Amino acid sequence: MMSVSLLLSHRVKAGLSVTEASPNLPLWLLAELTYACPLQCAYCSNPIDYSTSRQHELSTEEWIRVMTQAREQGAVQIGFSGGEPLVRQDLEILVSEAKRLGYYSNLITSAVGMDNKRIARLKEAGLDHIQVSFQGADRELNDYYAANKSFDHKVAMAKEIKRLGFPMVLNFVLHRHNIDQIEDILELSLTLGADYVELANCQYYGWALKNRDHLLPSRAQLCRAESIVKRFRKEQAGNMELYFIVPDYYESRPKACCNGWGTTFLTITPDGLALPCQGARVIPDVDFPSVREHSLQWIWQDSPLFNRFRGNAWMKEPCRSCPEKEKDLGGCRCQAMMLTGDAANADPVCDLSPHHHRVLEAIERAQIGNGDIANSQIINNKNKEQPLLFRNPKNAKQLKS
Ligand code: SF4
Ligand code: SF4
Repeated sequence: MMSVSLLLSHRVKAGLSVTEASPNLPLWLLAELTYACPLQCAYCSNPIDYSTSRQHELSTEEWIRVMTQAREQGAVQIGFSGGEPLVRQDLEILVSEAKRLGYYSNLITSAVGMDNKRIARLKEAGLDHIQVSFQGADRELNDYYAANKSFDHKVAMAKEIKRLGFPMVLNFVLHRHNIDQIEDILELSLTLGADYVELANCQYYGWALKNRDHLLPSRAQLCRAESIVKRFRKEQAGNMELYFIVPDYYESRPKACCNGWGTTFLTITPDGLALPCQGARVIPDVDFPSVREHSLQWIWQDSPLFNRFRGNAWMKEPCRSCPEKEKDLGGCRCQAMMLTGDAANADPVCDLSPHHHRVLEAIERAQIGNGDIANSQIINNKNKEQPLLFRNPKNAKQLKS
């Protein structure tokens, strides 16, 4: 997902004032149109038990109802995501409806399923912004990590997107096998005329958590990448904006996840569940409200899920008596759930958490065999107990059993 700073900067460019909006409105609607995707990224944030079955997806009319209700609740920005949103043949209809409703619209895509005609149709429908993701800076690594021969196509589509006058926004999810390509990634971004580049270090949810020992970079890799990004940022000031998102495992304090639970973000899954963040399905013992059964007004304001971790009354120690609790709100609820078994615990990224050792252990494992190895060795990497698991139905089945 795009960072909050990147989102807000685009909102300002779109003429939507930051101050006009209360922080308690669902400003950002993420419409996960489908889990179907031709790629198989091993860091995909989709749930492990995702289903590419299209039969339970919201219909065009249902999505229009969701967009209308979210706009009434205060949403100003919509992201069409997935899976791969281009799989939906009604995407142009949804984009034009978003335009009519007054949204600033973003398409978050791998570009697979796109061609020149489709980009032109999306432009005509009123799409404001396209973010194209790459898996690496060259054909070999990109196509290996996407499990799809898509690099040349992505480059061609990025050029066409630029030619049609869209802001050129590129996204690279960084991990131990592509982070050492950072200079090449930045050069590629320059060649493609990128206006914004999101260098988003992998966050360890969904498939990424299962593959964490393969993906988490070493501290040395991270420091090197960060210093190169700083140099580029200086050199390209006014030309290209770079957002480098550090993996929170290497921080001593967590981020306020999604700007705070139920404060800003509203995600709707392909089958119509409403979530305060993309990963919230890991939280047990809650009823996930469906837009098929409830209004978005009730979901946002009154549903038990959206109220469960709002504010700080739910906190346990050490967060409850912590002077920093207003700043980070105890971090990510999903990460607390996945790493400690209790979503109300402090995010174990925090070095005050009694579970912080779980993060330190993962970091320690990541220092071994860092990214000074060639791509071919990476691809044949058999050092780990479990092979790299690409996001596909076969691996999903194996992980569930
Ligand atoms: S992360 Fe990769 S596999 Fe997952 S939805 Fe995006 S492009 Fe598809
Ligand atoms: S103890 Fe809790 S509130 Fe305090 S810094 Fe850590 S995560 Fe944040």
